[in-house]
Amino acid sequence: MSLLRFEDVRQSYGAEEVLRGISFEMDRGDVEVVIGPSGSGKSTMLRCVNRLTEVDAGTIYLDGEAITTPDTDVNDLRRRVGMVFQDFNLFAHRTALGNVTLGLEEVLDYPREEARTEAMAQLERVGLADQADSYPAELSGGQKQRVGIARALAMDPELMLFDEPTSALDPELIGDVLAVMRDLAEEGMTMLCVTHEMGFARSAASTVSFLDGGQVVERGPPARLFESPANERTGEFLERLT
Ligand code: ADP
Ligand code: MG
Repeated sequence: MSLLRFEDVRQSYGAEEVLRGISFEMDRGDVEVVIGPSGSGKSTMLRCVNRLTEVDAGTIYLDGEAITTPDTDVNDLRRRVGMVFQDFNLFAHRTALGNVTLGLEEVLDYPREEARTEAMAQLERVGLADQADSYPAELSGGQKQRVGIARALAMDPELMLFDEPTSALDPELIGDVLAVMRDLAEEGMTMLCVTHEMGFARSAASTVSFLDGGQVVERGPPARLFESPANERTGEFLERLT
Protein backbone atom coordinates (compact mmCIF):
# COMPACT_ATOMS: atom_id res chain seq x y z
CA MET A 1 0.00 0.00 0.00
CA SER A 2 1.26 3.50 -0.76
CA LEU A 3 2.26 5.74 2.13
CA LEU A 4 0.89 8.91 0.54
CA ARG A 5 -1.75 9.12 -2.14
CA PHE A 6 -3.40 12.13 -3.77
CA GLU A 7 -6.65 11.35 -5.52
CA ASP A 8 -7.94 14.10 -7.82
CA VAL A 9 -7.15 16.86 -5.30
CA ARG A 10 -8.55 20.29 -6.09
CA GLN A 11 -8.19 23.55 -4.22
CA SER A 12 -9.18 27.13 -5.00
CA TYR A 13 -8.56 30.55 -3.51
CA GLY A 14 -11.74 32.37 -4.39
CA ALA A 15 -12.26 32.05 -8.11
CA GLU A 16 -8.68 30.91 -8.77
CA GLU A 17 -8.31 27.14 -8.95
CA VAL A 18 -4.78 26.50 -7.70
CA LEU A 19 -4.75 22.69 -7.65
CA ARG A 20 -6.59 21.27 -10.64
CA GLY A 21 -6.88 17.57 -10.07
CA ILE A 22 -3.64 16.25 -8.55
CA SER A 23 -3.26 12.46 -8.42
CA PHE A 24 -0.10 10.51 -7.56
CA GLU A 25 1.17 8.10 -4.98
CA MET A 26 4.39 7.47 -3.09
CA ASP A 27 5.58 4.33 -1.38
CA ARG A 28 7.31 4.23 1.97
CA GLY A 29 10.95 5.29 1.54
CA ASP A 30 10.30 7.18 -1.70
CA VAL A 31 11.72 10.64 -2.25
CA GLU A 32 9.47 12.69 -4.49
CA VAL A 33 10.85 15.99 -5.76
CA VAL A 34 8.34 18.53 -7.02
CA ILE A 35 9.52 21.24 -9.40
CA GLY A 36 7.58 23.90 -11.23
CA PRO A 37 7.26 27.64 -11.82
CA SER A 38 6.39 30.10 -9.09
CA GLY A 39 2.64 30.11 -8.49
CA SER A 40 2.11 26.61 -9.90
CA GLY A 41 0.68 25.32 -6.60
CA LYS A 42 3.70 23.53 -5.08
CA SER A 43 3.36 25.03 -1.59
CA THR A 44 -0.41 24.61 -1.64
CA MET A 45 0.03 20.95 -2.50
CA LEU A 46 2.29 20.38 0.53
CA ARG A 47 0.11 22.45 2.84
CA CYS A 48 -2.89 20.28 1.99
CA VAL A 49 -1.05 17.23 3.36
CA ASN A 50 -0.87 18.58 6.90
CA ARG A 51 -4.08 20.55 6.65
CA LEU A 52 -2.60 24.05 6.74
CA THR A 53 -4.78 24.40 3.64
CA GLU A 54 -8.05 22.53 3.12
CA VAL A 55 -8.79 20.72 -0.13
CA ASP A 56 -12.04 21.55 -1.93
CA ALA A 57 -12.40 18.17 -3.62
CA GLY A 58 -10.59 14.88 -3.87
CA THR A 59 -8.88 12.98 -1.08
CA ILE A 60 -5.40 12.61 0.38
CA TYR A 61 -4.55 9.28 2.03
CA LEU A 62 -1.73 8.64 4.50
CA ASP A 63 -0.95 4.97 4.94
CA GLY A 64 -4.33 4.10 3.44
CA GLU A 65 -6.34 6.37 5.68
CA ALA A 66 -8.14 9.47 4.35
CA ILE A 67 -6.68 12.55 6.09
CA THR A 68 -8.78 15.24 4.41
CA THR A 69 -12.04 14.34 6.13
CA PRO A 70 -13.76 16.41 8.84
CA ASP A 71 -13.08 13.73 11.48
CA THR A 72 -9.31 13.58 10.84
CA ASP A 73 -7.31 14.23 14.03
CA VAL A 74 -5.28 17.16 12.72
CA ASN A 75 -2.90 17.28 15.69
CA ASP A 76 -2.07 13.61 15.28
CA LEU A 77 -1.68 14.15 11.53
CA ARG A 78 0.82 16.98 12.09
CA ARG A 79 2.83 14.75 14.40
CA ARG A 80 2.95 12.06 11.73
CA VAL A 81 3.88 14.51 8.95
CA GLY A 82 6.88 16.77 9.60
CA MET A 83 7.20 20.00 7.66
CA VAL A 84 10.26 22.11 6.91
CA PHE A 85 9.61 25.62 5.64
CA GLN A 86 11.65 27.96 3.48
CA ASP A 87 11.85 30.59 6.22
CA PHE A 88 12.63 28.17 9.12
CA ASN A 89 9.80 29.29 11.46
CA LEU A 90 11.97 28.90 14.57
CA PHE A 91 11.02 30.46 17.90
CA ALA A 92 13.48 33.34 18.31
CA HIS A 93 13.37 33.33 22.11
CA ARG A 94 14.23 29.64 22.41
CA THR A 95 17.64 28.05 21.89
CA ALA A 96 18.25 25.45 19.19
CA LEU A 97 17.68 22.78 21.83
CA GLY A 98 14.59 24.58 23.11
CA ASN A 99 13.12 24.64 19.62
CA VAL A 100 13.54 20.88 19.36
CA THR A 101 12.34 20.00 22.88
CA LEU A 102 9.14 22.04 22.51
CA GLY A 103 7.14 19.49 20.52
CA LEU A 104 8.54 16.61 22.54
CA GLU A 105 7.31 18.18 25.78
CA GLU A 106 4.07 19.73 24.58
CA VAL A 107 2.88 17.29 21.94
CA LEU A 108 4.40 13.99 23.04
CA ASP A 109 4.42 14.73 26.80
CA TYR A 110 8.05 13.81 27.29
CA PRO A 111 9.41 14.60 30.76
CA ARG A 112 11.96 17.40 30.60
CA GLU A 113 15.15 15.33 30.84
CA GLU A 114 13.98 12.79 28.27
CA ALA A 115 13.01 15.60 25.91
CA ARG A 116 16.53 17.03 26.27
CA THR A 117 18.16 13.69 25.58
CA GLU A 118 16.02 13.05 22.52
CA ALA A 119 16.46 16.61 21.23
CA MET A 120 20.24 16.35 21.60
CA ALA A 121 20.18 13.13 19.59
CA GLN A 122 18.27 14.91 16.81
CA LEU A 123 20.65 17.89 16.84
CA GLU A 124 23.51 15.39 16.62
CA ARG A 125 21.81 13.82 13.61
CA VAL A 126 21.87 17.16 11.74
CA GLY A 127 25.42 17.98 12.91
CA LEU A 128 24.47 20.70 15.39
CA ALA A 129 25.02 19.20 18.84
CA ASP A 130 27.64 21.91 19.48
CA GLN A 131 25.08 24.68 18.84
CA ALA A 132 22.40 23.38 21.21
CA ASP A 133 22.53 26.48 23.42
CA SER A 134 22.63 29.03 20.60
CA TYR A 135 19.64 31.21 19.79
CA PRO A 136 18.38 31.41 16.19
CA ALA A 137 19.87 34.92 15.80
CA GLU A 138 23.30 33.43 16.53
CA LEU A 139 22.98 30.74 13.86
CA SER A 140 23.57 30.88 10.11
CA GLY A 141 20.63 30.27 7.80
CA GLY A 142 21.86 26.76 7.10
CA GLN A 143 22.13 25.99 10.81
CA LYS A 144 18.66 27.40 11.42
CA GLN A 145 17.26 25.18 8.71
CA ARG A 146 18.99 22.13 10.20
CA VAL A 147 17.39 22.97 13.58
CA GLY A 148 14.06 23.08 11.72
CA ILE A 149 14.75 19.62 10.33
CA ALA A 150 15.80 18.29 13.78
CA ARG A 151 12.60 19.71 15.26
CA ALA A 152 10.48 17.90 12.68
CA LEU A 153 12.43 14.64 13.06
CA ALA A 154 11.99 14.68 16.84
CA MET A 155 8.30 13.84 16.33
CA ASP A 156 9.38 10.60 14.59
CA PRO A 157 7.29 11.42 11.50
CA GLU A 158 6.24 8.90 8.87
CA LEU A 159 6.57 11.49 6.14
CA MET A 160 8.60 14.68 5.79
CA LEU A 161 7.53 17.64 3.68
CA PHE A 162 10.15 20.16 2.53
CA ASP A 163 9.05 23.43 0.96
CA GLU A 164 12.06 24.99 -0.77
CA PRO A 165 14.24 24.40 2.30
CA THR A 166 17.33 25.99 0.75
CA SER A 167 15.79 28.86 -1.22
CA ALA A 168 16.43 31.46 1.49
CA LEU A 169 20.06 30.41 2.02
CA ASP A 170 23.32 31.88 0.77
CA PRO A 171 24.82 29.53 -1.81
CA GLU A 172 27.66 28.40 0.47
CA LEU A 173 25.19 27.22 3.13
CA ILE A 174 22.97 25.12 0.88
CA GLY A 175 25.26 22.10 0.78
CA ASP A 176 25.04 21.30 4.50
CA VAL A 177 21.24 21.27 4.40
CA LEU A 178 21.16 19.11 1.27
CA ALA A 179 23.64 16.71 2.90
CA VAL A 180 21.28 16.25 5.84
CA MET A 181 18.39 15.65 3.43
CA ARG A 182 20.47 13.12 1.49
CA ASP A 183 21.28 11.26 4.73
CA LEU A 184 17.59 11.14 5.58
CA ALA A 185 16.77 9.79 2.15
CA GLU A 186 19.44 7.11 2.56
CA GLU A 187 18.03 6.15 5.95
CA GLY A 188 14.74 5.42 4.19
CA MET A 189 12.70 8.47 5.21
CA THR A 190 9.72 9.12 2.94
CA MET A 191 10.13 12.68 1.67
CA LEU A 192 8.02 15.00 -0.47
CA CYS A 193 10.32 17.88 -1.41
CA VAL A 194 9.71 21.06 -3.33
CA THR A 195 13.15 22.18 -4.43
CA HIS A 196 14.96 23.56 -7.43
CA GLU A 197 18.22 21.88 -6.42
CA MET A 198 18.58 19.66 -9.45
CA GLY A 199 21.73 17.97 -8.11
CA PHE A 200 19.74 16.80 -5.11
CA ALA A 201 16.85 15.72 -7.33
CA ARG A 202 19.17 13.75 -9.58
CA SER A 203 20.97 11.95 -6.79
CA ALA A 204 18.25 11.48 -4.18
CA ALA A 205 14.85 11.52 -5.86
CA SER A 206 13.00 8.33 -6.73
CA THR A 207 10.58 10.38 -8.81
CA VAL A 208 10.31 13.97 -10.01
CA SER A 209 7.00 15.69 -10.68
CA PHE A 210 6.75 18.82 -12.79
CA LEU A 211 3.82 20.92 -11.63
CA ASP A 212 2.43 23.67 -13.85
CA GLY A 213 -0.86 25.50 -13.52
CA GLY A 214 -1.98 23.28 -10.65
CA GLN A 215 -1.51 20.02 -12.54
CA VAL A 216 1.19 17.37 -12.61
CA VAL A 217 2.19 17.86 -16.21
CA GLU A 218 4.91 15.22 -16.16
CA ARG A 219 6.27 12.73 -13.65
CA GLY A 220 9.09 10.21 -13.84
CA PRO A 221 12.52 9.07 -12.63
CA PRO A 222 14.94 12.02 -12.49
CA ALA A 223 17.31 10.77 -15.19
CA ARG A 224 14.47 10.30 -17.67
CA LEU A 225 12.70 13.53 -16.84
CA PHE A 226 15.84 15.68 -16.97
CA GLU A 227 17.44 14.04 -20.00
CA SER A 228 14.37 13.61 -22.17
CA PRO A 229 11.32 15.45 -20.90
CA ALA A 230 8.25 14.26 -22.76
CA ASN A 231 6.32 17.48 -22.26
CA GLU A 232 7.25 20.72 -23.95
CA ARG A 233 6.54 22.80 -20.85
CA THR A 234 8.84 20.59 -18.73
CA GLY A 235 11.63 21.07 -21.23
CA GLU A 236 11.18 24.84 -21.31
CA PHE A 237 11.15 25.03 -17.52
CA LEU A 238 14.33 22.96 -17.19
CA GLU A 239 16.10 25.02 -19.84
CA ARG A 240 15.33 28.23 -17.98
CA LEU A 241 16.86 26.77 -14.77
CA THR A 242 20.26 26.07 -16.35
P1 ADP B 1 4.15 27.86 -5.55
O1 ADP B 1 4.55 27.32 -4.22
O2 ADP B 1 4.27 26.85 -6.66
O3 ADP B 1 4.86 29.12 -5.90
P2 ADP B 1 1.61 28.44 -4.29
O4 ADP B 1 0.99 27.15 -3.91
O5 ADP B 1 2.24 29.23 -3.21
O6 ADP B 1 2.59 28.20 -5.52
O7 ADP B 1 0.50 29.37 -4.93
C1 ADP B 1 -0.33 28.96 -6.01
C2 ADP B 1 -1.29 30.09 -6.33
O8 ADP B 1 -2.16 30.30 -5.24
C3 ADP B 1 -0.64 31.43 -6.62
O9 ADP B 1 -1.34 32.04 -7.67
C4 ADP B 1 -0.81 32.20 -5.34
O10 ADP B 1 -0.91 33.57 -5.60
C5 ADP B 1 -2.13 31.65 -4.82
N1 ADP B 1 -2.19 31.66 -3.34
C6 ADP B 1 -1.35 31.01 -2.51
N2 ADP B 1 -1.68 31.21 -1.23
C7 ADP B 1 -2.79 32.01 -1.23
C8 ADP B 1 -3.63 32.56 -0.23
N3 ADP B 1 -3.39 32.32 1.07
N4 ADP B 1 -4.66 33.33 -0.63
C9 ADP B 1 -4.91 33.56 -1.93
N5 ADP B 1 -4.15 33.06 -2.94
C10 ADP B 1 -3.11 32.30 -2.61
MG1 MG C 1 5.95 27.91 -2.83
